Amino acid sequence: MIANRLNFVYTSWRNRVVFGEGAITGLSDELASAGLDRVLVVCTPQQRALAELVQSHAGKSAVAIFDEARMHVPASVVRSASEVARSANVQGVVAAGGGSTIGLAKMLALHEQIPYVAVPTTYAGSEMTPIYGITAMNEKRTGRDERVLPKTVIYDPSLTLDLPWPVSVSSGLNAIAHAAEGLYAFDSNPILQLMAEEGIRAMANGMRQLATKPHDIEARGACLYGAWLCGSVLGQAGMAIHHKLCHVLGGSLDLPHAETHAVMLPHTIGYNAEFAPGAMARIRRALNAEDAAMGLYELGAELGSPCSLRDLGVQERELSRIVDVTIANPYWNPRPLERSDLMDMLYQAWRGDPPARA
Ligand code: NAD
Repeated sequence: MIANRLNFVYTSWRNRVVFGEGAITGLSDELASAGLDRVLVVCTPQQRALAELVQSHAGKSAVAIFDEARMHVPASVVRSASEVARSANVQGVVAAGGGSTIGLAKMLALHEQIPYVAVPTTYAGSEMTPIYGITAMNEKRTGRDERVLPKTVIYDPSLTLDLPWPVSVSSGLNAIAHAAEGLYAFDSNPILQLMAEEGIRAMANGMRQLATKPHDIEARGACLYGAWLCGSVLGQAGMAIHHKLCHVLGGSLDLPHAETHAVMLPHTIGYNAEFAPGAMARIRRALNAEDAAMGLYELGAELGSPCSLRDLGVQERELSRIVDVTIANPYWNPRPLERSDLMDMLYQAWRGDPPARA
């Protein structure tokens, strides 16, 4: 494996991270040191109250709120937000929310060429990646561009205390998926592997604590720390079969993003297990489990996550086409993509069976 030969390339993104309970109180100082005197706060309609709180910590700089961020970043929403940003003559954006809100700020950074400060409130990790997406006429277009990275990220676990439990679980497992695939990526490296293992450990332990105490600030902090690490891995390593399958499932069947990741993860990791022993050892260690794929399956079950594609509304007859589309334009993967093996794996995920052991 490339990474074990200590022969690798590591690129870190330039951004500033301010982490901790109450970190949001430093927002006006962060905006001042970034030279941003006029900013637009963006959020989803559901998070208007959070955006108002964030606006209050921005002092006079936050001149307006745009509360129409939506899942999958519709082009029409980007256009409306651009118009508001222009008419308010802002120099930057503060994105307060999850991957959907940060996705909107990314498109504003790209189209309007204005920087943004991210205040993530889920565990999706988009703030740590140069990946953007926009949806027009039912088609999602994605790309990579360093200009969509935030100038500063403020992680404040106190803003995540009310993150609903199902969203906490699915976005936490989505984060673990980024780290897990980063462990066996073709361009992985020892630094990313440290981050990935630590990210999985922090997220799994944090979520286990949250299962009994959803408002525990330390556990929320552990999950946010895990999200940062797992998101960083996604931002720096190529993803493999897991992300490809989730992309195809989500795109062609309009499935919920994070839940699809949560269901698929044990199965895709089981599929690759024999071909990525080093990655499996790190996942086992992070989860304190005897088997990586079973450990992930049991974690999802323990947290009450949906465990089958059938539960997400997928029809059995759709599986064959999903595999065809996946194979037609594959991502690199440690295990060769054999149609019949992929069908077996997808059926297993559809039924919600435990993953096959390598
Ligand atoms: P989301 O941003 O869609 O948020 C889900 C719901 O939870 C929303 O209604 C939101 O208002 C609410 N919410 C968020 N934080 C809350 C909080 N603290 N308290 C109460 N409610 C809260 O969900 P997500 O899982 O964070 O993001 C999913 C999107 O992000 C997908 O579109 C996915 O493609 C994208 N994503 C992109 C990247 C990337 O690198 N570009 C990485 C991961 C995810």
